[in-house]
Amino acid sequence: MDKNKGNISIHTENIFPIIKKWLYSDKDIFIRELISNGCDAISKLKRLQSLGEANLQGNQIYKVIVSVNKEKGTLKFSDNGIGMTEEEVKKYINQVAFSGAEDFINKYKDKIGEDKDIIGHFGLGFYSAFMVAKRVQIDTLSYIDGSEAVTWVCDGGTEYEISPSTKDSRGTTITLFVDEDSKEFLEAFKVREVIEKYCSFLPIEIYLEEEGKEEKEEDKKPLNDTTPLWMKSPKDCTDEEYKEFYKKVFLDFNDPLFWIHLNVDYPFNLKGILYFPKLKHELEATEGQVKLYNNQVFVADNIKEVIPEFLLLLKGTIDCPDLPLNVSRSFLQKDKDVMKISKHIVKKVADKLVSLYKNERENFNSFWKDIQIFIKYGCLRDESFYEKIKDIIIFKRLNGEYITLNEYLEENKEKHENKVFYVTDEKQQSQYIKMFKEASLDALVLDCSLDNHFISFLEAKESGVTFARIDSDISEILKSDSNEDLKDINDKVQSLFKDLASNGINEVKVESLRNSETPAMILVSEQSRRMAEMSKMFGGMDMPNMFSEEKTLVVNNNNSIIKKLSQINLEENKDKVELMCNYIVDIALLSNKELSSEEMDNFINRSNKILSLAMEL
Ligand code: ADP
Repeated sequence: MDKNKGNISIHTENIFPIIKKWLYSDKDIFIRELISNGCDAISKLKRLQSLGEANLQGNQIYKVIVSVNKEKGTLKFSDNGIGMTEEEVKKYINQVAFSGAEDFINKYKDKIGEDKDIIGHFGLGFYSAFMVAKRVQIDTLSYIDGSEAVTWVCDGGTEYEISPSTKDSRGTTITLFVDEDSKEFLEAFKVREVIEKYCSFLPIEIYLEEEGKEEKEEDKKPLNDTTPLWMKSPKDCTDEEYKEFYKKVFLDFNDPLFWIHLNVDYPFNLKGILYFPKLKHELEATEGQVKLYNNQVFVADNIKEVIPEFLLLLKGTIDCPDLPLNVSRSFLQKDKDVMKISKHIVKKVADKLVSLYKNERENFNSFWKDIQIFIKYGCLRDESFYEKIKDIIIFKRLNGEYITLNEYLEENKEKHENKVFYVTDEKQQSQYIKMFKEASLDALVLDCSLDNHFISFLEAKESGVTFARIDSDISEILKSDSNEDLKDINDKVQSLFKDLASNGINEVKVESLRNSETPAMILVSEQSRRMAEMSKMFGGMDMPNMFSEEKTLVVNNNNSIIKKLSQINLEENKDKVELMCNYIVDIALLSNKELSSEEMDNFINRSNKILSLAMEL
């Protein structure tokens, strides 16, 4: 073969500086592109072999080897795949790719400036090598009998050189003469890191070598797992394998709670595993990670255009060869296939949850603490998800058991129809819980950070149903049945507390409660509390709260202290009565909320005074 020269057919003279600049933010993808090309070359050869079109002798061990040579400043990618003839090099390397790159540039010229990040998701293929190399050399020998090996060299301009090569084994070696400013890619650890990021699950074995250095033990093994678990049929995978895969990929010491193995062939191709992680604390729920792959090549984490946002709270791997990942993200959003895929994933997740609820109710209950935030967020984000799973949303009741909303409503129909009482903090609201239990009433524990929104959502969805916190207007249902006429006492007590109690209390009521131990309790109107919470949340720190909670003090005339208090001669015992009334309010406040420092001060002072009074006895 003669040495000959030619021009790469491209009109844009300065394509390389542009590619380099644009791709800068995601430079390391060139490793993914060159390794994927090597794997493709091997896969093509394997296919030809199985079709009987390639006649290869002996047992073939296919692999891609990446070699780093810091002294020479080179990074090589060698495969023993299909190789290329001179014609193929001219056709594939000189024309196709370049015109593809040019099209790409023309098409996205305007957008690049705004969103550099998207570039990482365009496979610029072979030419991405020029992001880090001043010169790229291809040495290749085709599998076709009688082929001659070819060298192609290009210095990053539009000129290339083709000449005979000394390569004597089938396959392709791409040599990158690494640029001064990309020297990091001559460090084996850096290259290893990038390979592990993008190529951990490629179907062909990948090895890393350091030329001129003794082979390390870890480099004798391939860097990747060529048959990731998601590629296997679900019936061939054991629980242990799922757990092991999870721990390895997501570096979590804990076992996942459960998982969903997605395996679809029609109408699109989709494989993957979604794990429900065990949470150490609720905040962790925002740290999910769903890795997207295209034919086992890692593309990116958490692409919300493909995977519905609420599913990104999970951990998992999704492999979708059909996705047009070489296009921009905004295009993905409108793509019909992408929407179908996304819907399918949501349906599968809902099906799994329903089946767990139906077939493994105990497990489902025990998982609830960890999965509720995901489920509730999912309902808020996607109503179709809510429709699919609404009957399996469960709530903890006061005795610790779980029931559905309908079960709760049905059970309490006679006592308070369509009204759901709830607890947001079991410790803080323990006095109210005690009274509820004594009165054989029940409430649901809604203490997850999303429950505020979830309650409003349920009220909007389930017509007629209203939610009221356990310290809201409950005096009616806690009233005693006695017919005793207490009007005189009531009037006296009413004025006693009206005159004495301050503490931000808007109203004083005297009632006869079933529970005789409690002298008084604070009730907070549900609506005013919700408004106050909302204004706090949206107003931020700088805005004064526009709404405050409306508090009612309910004094219990069925309580012996209150009864006695109403009989004391006020004129003679003014100070003592005042102290006791205020102390009763203190205790009521203490049972309702965390005291402010001033309230706490008052409470302690009054406690000390009461102790002194007790000493006088
Ligand atoms: P793409 O891989 O997206 O087709 P590339 O620019 O990466 O685009 O490569 C262009 C073409 O060059 C490939 O389609 C393939 O035919 C050929 N090619 C690239 N690398 C190799 C290789 N290692 N072995 C054989 N052929 C290759």
